[in-house]
Amino acid sequence: MGPARSRAPPPPTPVPLTMPHLDPIPEADEVLFLPLGGVGEIGMNLALYGHAGAWLMVDLGITFAGDRFPDYDVLMADPGFIERHRGRLTGLVLTHAHEDHVGALPYLWKRLRCPVYATPFTAAVAGHKLASAGLDLVPLHEVQLGARFPVGPFGVELIGVTHSIPEPNGVLIRTPVGCVYHTGDWKLDEDPRLGRPYDRARLESLAREPLLAMACDSTNAVVPGHSGSEGSLRAGLREAVEGCTGRVLVSSFSSNIARLITTARVAEDTGRRFGVLGPAMQRMLGFARATGYWPADLPALVDARHLALLPPCEVLAACTGSQGEPTAALARLANDSHRDMLLDPGDTVIFSSRVIPGNEAAVERVQARLKAIGVSLVTDQDHQVHVSGHPAQTELEQMYRWVQPPLCIPVHGTPRHLAANAAIALACGVPRALEVRNGDVCRLTPGGAEVLGTVPTGRLAAQPRGLERVPAGILADMREHGR
Ligand SMILES: [Zn+2]
Ligand SMILES: [Zn+2]
Repeated sequence: MGPARSRAPPPPTPVPLTMPHLDPIPEADEVLFLPLGGVGEIGMNLALYGHAGAWLMVDLGITFAGDRFPDYDVLMADPGFIERHRGRLTGLVLTHAHEDHVGALPYLWKRLRCPVYATPFTAAVAGHKLASAGLDLVPLHEVQLGARFPVGPFGVELIGVTHSIPEPNGVLIRTPVGCVYHTGDWKLDEDPRLGRPYDRARLESLAREPLLAMACDSTNAVVPGHSGSEGSLRAGLREAVEGCTGRVLVSSFSSNIARLITTARVAEDTGRRFGVLGPAMQRMLGFARATGYWPADLPALVDARHLALLPPCEVLAACTGSQGEPTAALARLANDSHRDMLLDPGDTVIFSSRVIPGNEAAVERVQARLKAIGVSLVTDQDHQVHVSGHPAQTELEQMYRWVQPPLCIPVHGTPRHLAANAAIALACGVPRALEVRNGDVCRLTPGGAEVLGTVPTGRLAAQPRGLERVPAGILADMREHGR
């Protein structure tokens, strides 16, 4: 026998460098899935479902470019394809009120002009955004969690889940050809501290529906274990506050009403007075009150000016700015430029949040200034003061076992997250996973699924003169930096 010769690897399966460019009109014997944003990236979600000559849109979000791209603050998916087909667009269903799902509504509605469907809290947030943009006459239909309603040829059902904002819902999209379950953002929180529990019975019963696919949140697919429960944070936050002698500020996302309620409870637990700094958070709190999510038994909030006059050891305030946003309350406090309050050495800031990738530098700047004042910083490295709103691996596994879709389409993630989610689905017995990208036209039928081709995609940036297309060079640069 001669010396072993290394064998040449088999030639790779040829992959067409470019898929055919399409301008699809959905047929009656198929469901098309066509994401224009949010797949291969986190943020600016925009998904389209097509059937029998009509399109249904799920979510219309933005993303923030971060300080690497200061000229492109607010970004959104270019809706050009559906704008051209707007006569076929039967409606927009919103899964929840986070910016990456509703933020583009005031920018893009005029180009789409379709009815909008949302649960009461989401409708309150969306309605405010539209009114602020002078769009008072948008047909915004308030629907209840669990509601089933027709939108063109689609039957739509909202399924209550848990996340990090009131009233998150998955969307079951029903057609005569079959159904798709679009999960929206979700986690399995046994103690969400607010609103209804996730609708476990309905999620389990999805396995008996004629499902074609499940389009599933991939944000935390690389995170082992469980995301943790909002209910677990009261003890951790209390622990973090108990040792403090000065003022305590808790910085979190404005829309996380459960977190605000927990923070208010911790103020009660530790004998402090509670207030809220930052107009965005005050506005969200107003929506929570108006839709019945703010507990009536909590003591009245102390306004910022009065908080500032109290002895520091009696103050606990929730505030905006956990991502280092330069105009938010926390950055102003760090710069000694807040209208109502000045921080002193011995005060504490608790970051009840996670730094969104890309915002690290901005957060570090604010933290350095706080430290320079002599303020102590607490993060989730020190105490249990934050849980994510997205499913980690055991929750994804549980969901796949309940729903048992014939096909998983990972969405809401970078390529790494999408691949991890697909692997989990396959390991849980889902027969197939389709890793698609923005612009891919996926044909779903009871016989199987295939990517037919692509439609053009891109990004628009909100500029003083209006919306402008982000040039290709900048777009490539953004992708390289995970934006
Ligand atoms: Zn969300
Ligand atoms: Zn999201």
